Order: sequence, then structure tokens, then C-alpha cells
Amino acid sequence: MNAALPVDVLKQHLIDPEICIRCNTCEETCPVDAITHDSNNYVVDPDICNGCMACVPPCPTGSIDNWRLVVRADAYTLADQLGWDELPREQALPEMASVAPGAAADSATESAAAAVVPATPGASVPPWSAAHPYVNLYTHKTPVTATVVGNYRVTGADTDSDIHHIVLDFGDLPFPVLEGQSIGILPPGADAQGRPHHARQYSLASPRDGERAGYNNLSLTVKRVTEDHLGQPAQGVCSNYLCDLAKNDTVQVIGPFGHTFLMPNHPRANLVMICTGTGSAPMRAMTERCRRRIDSGENGRLMLFFGARTERELPYFGPLMKLPRDFIDINLALSREAGLPKRYVQDLIRERAADVRALLADRNTCIYVCGLKGMEVGVLDALRDVTMQSGQDWTILHEVLRREGRLHFETY
Ligand code: NAP
Repeated sequence: MNAALPVDVLKQHLIDPEICIRCNTCEETCPVDAITHDSNNYVVDPDICNGCMACVPPCPTGSIDNWRLVVRADAYTLADQLGWDELPREQALPEMASVAPGAAADSATESAAAAVVPATPGASVPPWSAAHPYVNLYTHKTPVTATVVGNYRVTGADTDSDIHHIVLDFGDLPFPVLEGQSIGILPPGADAQGRPHHARQYSLASPRDGERAGYNNLSLTVKRVTEDHLGQPAQGVCSNYLCDLAKNDTVQVIGPFGHTFLMPNHPRANLVMICTGTGSAPMRAMTERCRRRIDSGENGRLMLFFGARTERELPYFGPLMKLPRDFIDINLALSREAGLPKRYVQDLIRERAADVRALLADRNTCIYVCGLKGMEVGVLDALRDVTMQSGQDWTILHEVLRREGRLHFETY
């Protein structure tokens, strides 16, 4: 936050490289493009940042929320920040550069916070009844060792989508999590510059009481990356490491992360889950949480929109199809199934407009969107169309959903 303080002091906004998991959320959120990154760090340009604070609530780790009082002329440059392994210590300001009375750093933060810009389509607060999450229990400097107790493919062996369900056990070490949270994996080895690989983030695919209820374990859904964004051959460092792990191998884990993409905890809350590919991980976690209490009468309606190329490339297809139809309303959008028209999740949302509209109108409904970045706009357009068909104002409803922590996005 770089709002000007009297004299020549700047409260400089910095990102803690030791906690940051390089998830890109801040860079995407920043409405003025003040945040950038290289292969090492995410950094804030002191000449551009206007202190709007839009990036702070969505950050899953809190690494974004760091500040240093500096003489403006000596502000840390982008080059300084890109080279850091840790934040510099707070420096004493020269006497003549003291902050004038009434312009304390916190008041600058507060006035900037009052002008928060809604830069993301989703909420920056959790549903009101969400359980309280633990975050950052284990960091880059203090990772925890987990043991692989399962690793198997959950997509057809004859397809290009090599997606694995990986189960990690934490033994006696505490690792409390909630559905919708994520963890960081530290792959062994170093990057081209000789620096240790930074952590890669994965959503939990298991509920809070473990992949196996009562066990201190959790699961991940990991797709083996074999090409880059341009379709050129490229081996994903962490995904290949994870997909190749054998039972009893150990893994360095940090986290947990995330304090907003959480499920409601009150009885009869409804879940609308919209996902593509491995974005199904948090939906599996939430669905499994509900399945385990199916006889308690606590569940509301569960409606799932799930997109994949084909049935055989849809992770967890078999187990999903075995779930009772009166427990979860499943809508599969297959985009490349032979003999079928191309379908995206947003097409199915429109087809199920009446049911989606009824759920949107219920204040007990929370909506979760996870998967490809590209689906974000399509899903928002579909929700808007569904709402407007009944003469309602989507702009107003969208703002209510954000404010009440009822619409959440996790897209990459
Ligand atoms: P994918 O197989 O590439 O795509 C899944 C489906 O989405 C395909 O049917 C695809 O159709 C369709 N699709 C493509 N563009 C779309 C759009 N604009 N709107 C709606 N649907 C669209 O998916 P993936 O490789 O598994 O990727 C999943 C994403 O989830 C990744 O970006 C990943 O980073 C993210 N994610 C993963 C985790 C995790 O824990 N592993 C957690 C959160 C998010 P066509 O290809 O036929 O066009």
C-alpha cells in the first residue's frame, strides 16, 4: 500500500517470498497491474501501487500483507524485490523523515482499505457459517513430511489425461484442514538458476476428517503436465514428481492455505459446484463431507456441473456415478465425446436455468467454481442469463453473493 504519507515517507507494499506460494492470485486481482513476477518472486511496483488493498483479501497465505516504512526515494525497487529470499528487516527512518502527527501508517492503511476495489468476481469472505480454517502451520522453512499411502490414476488409461489421486498421511503430526483449502508441495531439486523449486499449490480432494474418515491423511487430484500453455512438450516439475511417487515415499508439504473458499457449516445449506478437470478436487472434498453425513438430515441440495473432454477423462467418473441421485444432482458437460455435441458447464447451467435460479434465490446456497481460468467468464455470463430471464438484476445479485461469501472462484 503506497498511499503517500506526509514528508517523504512511503509505506511500501511488499510480498513475503518465504510464505508466498506463487499462485498468481494477487497479480490477477490487482486492478492497476502493480504486481508482477519472475521465476523467483512476486513483487509490487512502488511507482504503480495505489494502495487500494484489492489484492489483500484473496491471498490464500497472507504473504501479500507486508509493509515497510521507507524514505520514498529509497523505496525497494522491483530488482531488489525479485532477488529476495526473505523480506528485509524494518529499517529505522532518518529523523528528518519522521511521519507527521495524524498520518500514522495505520491510518493510511485504513483510508486505502475503505476504497477497496472489487477486482475479482468472487467473494473475499467465507460463507458466514464456515468453520474456522488454520493457515500457514508449515512454511518453506518449516515444512512437514508426509508419507504417500496411495497413488492411482483416476482417468482412462487410454487417454491423454493422466490424472492421479494421491493420498498423503501425516502420521502423528497435526495437519488440520477444511474442504476447499489447499496445500503446497515442495518438489525436490532446483530450478535453472540453482534455487530450490518453489512450492506448487494443490486443492484438497478429501474432507476435513481425512481421505479415510478418522485417519490423519488427505488426498490431492494431480494432472501430469506434459506440455506448456502453447502446447509445446514440457514436463511439469511438481506434477510429474507427484504422479511418479510410490507408496511409502515421503513428500515435503507446507500449508494449509485458504480462508474463503470454504463450505457453509450450517444445516441444509445448498451447494452449487461448477468445475472442469482437476478443478473437481474441492468439489470431491465437499461432496464427500456431505456423503458421510447423508443419514443425518443435515444436507441441503447438492448440484454439480462438471466439465471434461470425455467420460474417460473425467476424474472420479466411476465413484461419482455411484452416488445416489437424490443426494446429488450431477450434470456432466463433455466437450469431445464422440457422437455428442460439444458441451461446456455454462451450457448446462443455462439448460438447468429454473433449478439454478431457485437455488440462487435461496440465501442458504453457496456457489463454487474451480478449474480452467477460461471458464470464469462463461460461468458468470450463464449465471447472469439465468438470473435475468426472471427479470432479476444480476449486478445486484452478484454483489449480494460476493458480500455474503456465497460465490467463490478458484481458477488457474
Ligand atoms: P481440461 O481437461 O483442459 O479441461 C476440462 C474441460 O473444460 C474440457 O472439457 C475443456 O474443453 C473445458 N473447457 C475449456 N475451456 C473452457 C471454457 N472456457 N469454459 C468452460 N469449459 C472449458 O482441464 P484440466 O487440464 O484438468 O485443468 C483444470 C484446471 O483446474 C487447471 O487449470 C488447474 O490448474 C486447475 N485447478 C487444479 C486444482 C488441483 O488441485 N489440481 C485445483 C484448482 C484448480 P475443451 O478442451 O474440449 O475445449
